[in-house]
Amino acid sequence: MKVKQNLRVRIDADAMERIWHWTDLAAGEFSCLGTVTDDITVSNVQLFDQICTAASTELDQDALAKFLVTHAQPEHVRAWIHSHGRLGVFWSQQDEACIEGLANDQCLVSIVVNKKREFKARIDVWQPFRLTFDDLPLEIRLPDQNLRGECERLFNAHVVEMQPVLMPDWRGGRHPQQQGQPQHGQAYRGGWPDFDDDLADWR
Ligand SMILES: [Zn+2]
Repeated sequence: MKVKQNLRVRIDADAMERIWHWTDLAAGEFSCLGTVTDDITVSNVQLFDQICTAASTELDQDALAKFLVTHAQPEHVRAWIHSHGRLGVFWSQQDEACIEGLANDQCLVSIVVNKKREFKARIDVWQPFRLTFDDLPLEIRLPDQNLRGECERLFNAHVVEMQPVLMPDWRGGRHPQQQGQPQHGQAYRGGWPDFDDDLADWR
């Protein structure tokens, strides 16, 4: 059964960059695995031993077992990412078989990419029902550099937010909403003018 909902997959910028580098480096396909957090964020993507061709990448069960045995958090390895090289992004029969082979009691995030930077992302669950959430948005999570305080200080020091005045009121006087002179560091917190009302003055 395939359904769509307002789900999305997040991926760390670091993980996304690694995937694009490996996609560029591979002549054809390649696979990697990543960890998934409770809020469906993929991170810590890693390669494992594999033999790839231009059109296939098989998950070697021995290599997979070896990878999981040496992984620090094998229970969080819930993301399978692979590239189709120069081909389009879709789920092949082999991909569907790989996904079934990675079935678990939580969920599996699968991402397929190609050299044109196209991608498809899906989430599969097996319990309590078998469901596939396909064509999900992929949101890149940027690293938090803890810059909020500095940005707020600089914003307040340099930015004055004036209410936009679209056009003069020719019937004299100031626009009723053109009052008050915000100072530096005082963000304007009123509502925006009703554009339709302002334009109506010209009709
Ligand atoms: Zn594939």
